[in-house]
Amino acid sequence: MISRSEHCISRSNISKSALKVLYRLKEGGYQAFLVGGGVRDLLLGRHPKDFDIATDAHPEEVRSLFKNSRLIGRRFRLAHVRFGREIIEVATFRKSGTVGDDGEAEAQHTQRIVRDNEYGSIEEDIWRRDFTVNALYYNIADFSIWDFSTGMADIKDRTLRLIGEPERRYREDPVRMLRAARLAAKLNFSIHEDTAAPIPKLAGLIDGVPPARLFDEFLKIFQTGHALESYRRLSRHGLFGHLFPQTTRWLKTAPDDRRAGMIRQALENTDQRIVQNKPVTPMFLFAVFLWGAVSQRAAELGEREDCSEYQALMVAAGEVTAKQVTRIALPKRFSYPMREILQMQPRFLKQKGSRAMNLLEHKRFRAAYDLMLLRASAGELDQSIADWWTRVQTLSHDEQLVEFGLARSAGSPARKERAPRRRRSRQGKR
Ligand code: ATP
Ligand code: MG
Repeated sequence: MISRSEHCISRSNISKSALKVLYRLKEGGYQAFLVGGGVRDLLLGRHPKDFDIATDAHPEEVRSLFKNSRLIGRRFRLAHVRFGREIIEVATFRKSGTVGDDGEAEAQHTQRIVRDNEYGSIEEDIWRRDFTVNALYYNIADFSIWDFSTGMADIKDRTLRLIGEPERRYREDPVRMLRAARLAAKLNFSIHEDTAAPIPKLAGLIDGVPPARLFDEFLKIFQTGHALESYRRLSRHGLFGHLFPQTTRWLKTAPDDRRAGMIRQALENTDQRIVQNKPVTPMFLFAVFLWGAVSQRAAELGEREDCSEYQALMVAAGEVTAKQVTRIALPKRFSYPMREILQMQPRFLKQKGSRAMNLLEHKRFRAAYDLMLLRASAGELDQSIADWWTRVQTLSHDEQLVEFGLARSAGSPARKERAPRRRRSRQGKR
């Protein structure tokens, strides 16, 4: 037990809502602890993303203390207490289960029914946590931290270490392997060697995780500001290929580092956007990850079957996406526009005519253009074409008409006559 004077957590850094819940539980005669990533982040001087609370109150008891709460989950019931947009999750201490113990994810993605013997004491609760640094309990009764493992020492050493026997803990819930890579990236921690050792051997267990849960995890890995570092760690531990097998295959056949560079650049851009508070969408990263596999498949189809470039790309995008969503359940509202972005790529090669100019007005132009820029940096298309598309966006409408060969510049009669011929000869070359 680490007393109030021996640690740096101050109530002023805990959200008002979380404090309200902690105090009301305490006043109701229950134990109430802040737990998990919230405590860890406060000890590291970071702003926690969310605050989770653990208590000995049963879910129904929590429900009756808070009008603004509802119970979720079938297998393990949790209370969500809502304050405006903020949700405080309150979980009852429970014994470590036999399989995947991540309360909310399990609750959302499995259909198994609640067993009755699930509740336990705080000493039992720690065994269902993953890493020692996530198993620190901040007690609202006296502001002490309860550390049942080596959490405080591991925070100081910036080390992620699984509680218990690593191989067993990964078999219970393979998502813990992804969490190790993600949290190490996010916190700039190292993964303890005993915790890292079984990962390459067990990485294949990721294939059995429900795709909907992997989509949730995808968002946490790639859309929260540490995508590039997470990708590096996932790749190093042999995990990335289980999330995006087709991408990995495409990277393996790369003649040089430029394909990998394209992926890294996209991830870096995504991280930058988060820093700048700009919106990010999974549709774009999926397009970047899948582009290579789609274009390879389209080339195969184009050779074998008598179909146009556009048809080949459409079929290939359909096939590759269908395979990918069996791994990570990308909702249709993202997968449809993602396919559009892929299918728009050949249109950037045509710089003349009204169809080419219409591309600028396309709903997905910006995302498709961003992907095209990345492709140019990977040497897939000429940098001068990418630069041209960058430049035409800055022009006035009239100037654009000229660029796209749809108007004669400044009314010169001589040019008027030459313009169509020039257009024809350029098309001929292509
Ligand atoms: P983040 O900063 O991304 O929120 P976190 O560690 O808080 O990281 P959450 O998903 O919010 O992650 O989970 C809250 C807590 O629940 C964790 O700190 C950990 O104690 C526990 N937990 C979450 N997922 C798992 C899991 N798969 N296995 C065991 N414990 C888990
Ligand atoms: Mg959290």
